[in-house]
Amino acid sequence: MTVSLSSIRPYEVCSIRPPTENDSLTFRLTRNCYWNRCTFCPAYKFGARFSKRGLAEVKEDIRRARVIYDFLLQEGLGEAGYTAFSRLPRLAQQIRDAAGPDLEEEAPEEKAPEELPPGLAWFLRWFKDRPELEESLNHVLAWHLGGSRTCFLGDADSLILKPEFLGETIQEIKHPFPSLTRFTIYGRTKTAARIRTPEELEAFHRAGLDRVHFGVESGSNRVLKFVRKGVTRDEHVEGAVKTQEAGLSCGVYVMPGLGGARWSEEHARDTADVITRISPDYVRLRSLQVFPQTPLDEALKRGDFQEADEAQVVREIRMMVEEIDTETDIVSDSASNLLQINGRLPRDRAAMIYEIDGFLSLSPRDKRLFSLESRLRAFVGQYGGLSRDLARALGPYMKGGGLDPGGIPTPEMDRLIRLIRSKLMP
Ligand code: SF4
Repeated sequence: MTVSLSSIRPYEVCSIRPPTENDSLTFRLTRNCYWNRCTFCPAYKFGARFSKRGLAEVKEDIRRARVIYDFLLQEGLGEAGYTAFSRLPRLAQQIRDAAGPDLEEEAPEEKAPEELPPGLAWFLRWFKDRPELEESLNHVLAWHLGGSRTCFLGDADSLILKPEFLGETIQEIKHPFPSLTRFTIYGRTKTAARIRTPEELEAFHRAGLDRVHFGVESGSNRVLKFVRKGVTRDEHVEGAVKTQEAGLSCGVYVMPGLGGARWSEEHARDTADVITRISPDYVRLRSLQVFPQTPLDEALKRGDFQEADEAQVVREIRMMVEEIDTETDIVSDSASNLLQINGRLPRDRAAMIYEIDGFLSLSPRDKRLFSLESRLRAFVGQYGGLSRDLARALGPYMKGGGLDPGGIPTPEMDRLIRLIRSKLMP
């Protein structure tokens, strides 16, 4: 059946999802985070409110996603490879022209730049409470080109949903998208430990759920309390172990640097211990980046929190790699990390420590140089070039088209590293 332009509508996709789900089809079963108190987390702090979505609403999104998919196939984009993305803006305009005012009602809310907190505009563009046409088209196309096999159901803690609801939703999704073989969610360990029974977690698994991504961040009770994570180390372990016993795969995020200079060692040691007790399938490293206007940023300004420097954060990672006593994968797939430490423990422990020690053995000046160059590479990788303000800041130190860092005074180098880090997508 031919898909008419006027029948296409955008739907709500999950702006925030794990990197392994970048090419996943996503649906929002809830919006945002009901906890929303973690002091380091900028995700839902700026206006977004938590809500649960009804099955009818989610079903409508599933229907819209299938219409978009049929349309993309009809337009031949399925065979066009990655060049197909360049055709989407024109197609979106044709859809808008055909739909007229009906679609305009669902167009993104325009926010004047001056209404956005300074420095957060780039981050906040990931959060949309209203569906956008280009984003929906991009999303379905990326899923198709990425193999059409995985689906992520957001937002921040889908374990708070009843297993029956999740099961019914997964069935609704599988029907129009039969190629899907993996369904994953974000979850809070607290929910798994305190709200869900083992039988309910098993029911999630039977319903078709494969994996839960948990934000553990730290294994130190002191750090967890300070950043208002709302969970203890024992609850982390209980929730994650219970989840695995129910047959679900479990991945955890940890945040080197979250204990600041004060609790750096305790944070690393206790986190290694919690990971050992959980024994997750993988551990993703996300080094702390203090976002502007978060409660942690305010604590920093008041002097209640002192950041660990980059070498200290790397030493934390070293301690974790050294002390985690279980089989698990360490993954560094975030621009927040200075070093790309990847490997399977215990097999690759020595190789990862060798890599870390290579950095730690550098002189203070060479550490800064390493950081400046690698942060700059990450920035160019993310944005395809230098932004105007960065080009201006680096201008005096450029020579023959490249960076000539020899003459950069140390405080200026620190300032440049901070500037670049503040603009990297984590
Ligand atoms: S639970 Fe997750 S999404 Fe919610 S505030 Fe904490 S880190 Fe952010």
